Amino acid sequence: MNSTAKITDLKEDQCVVDVLLKEVEKHPCKDCGKCVFGYEGITQLELILKDITEKKGRSGDKDLIKDLCYMMKTQSLCEDGEEIADAVKTALENYGDIFDEHISKKGCRAGVCKKFMTYHILASKCIGCGECMDACEDEAILGKKKFVHVIDLNECTLCGKCMDACDEDAIVMAGAKKPKCPAKPIPCKR
Ligand code: SF4
Ligand code: SF4
Repeated sequence: MNSTAKITDLKEDQCVVDVLLKEVEKHPCKDCGKCVFGYEGITQLELILKDITEKKGRSGDKDLIKDLCYMMKTQSLCEDGEEIADAVKTALENYGDIFDEHISKKGCRAGVCKKFMTYHILASKCIGCGECMDACEDEAILGKKKFVHVIDLNECTLCGKCMDACDEDAIVMAGAKKPKCPAKPIPCKR
């Protein structure tokens, strides 16, 4: 299956930018170097797509990608460069709004790009044991015994250690849709 086929009809839990980045990362142009537009094009594409998945996208990125793809399509020496350029162009045409969401930092609706995710503690499940707080090296968790603990999203570095430490499955990751959680520790109901 070629790259264009892989980015058509994506499922809800697939992110087009992530799928595309993976295609670019393993693309033959990266190891070839026989033509400047193929090699430089794929290198730049990888950098830009990576930034977009890591919440570092910039407003001109879509235009930059379009220009790069045009050069790759018209100047590459073989069909490999043309093929990936076609895939990226199709992705922009079919899923341009998803690129926009990433770039404007609104999120990754598929919940795939980890930098857009946040950790939350569910009040309905937390027993206030404090294991998560002990595991958090960034002091991003507020709480005390028998109180529902709360993650300070400004301090959280998304390491995931609290999730591993919680035996109650009270800690969840969320993408665009965040669960309702108390703003500060409150007494546990459990
Ligand atoms: S989130 Fe889990 S580990 Fe943290 S206090 Fe609540 S139950 Fe304990
Ligand atoms: S994900 Fe890491 S930094 Fe964030 S609250 Fe959990 S342990 Fe702390």
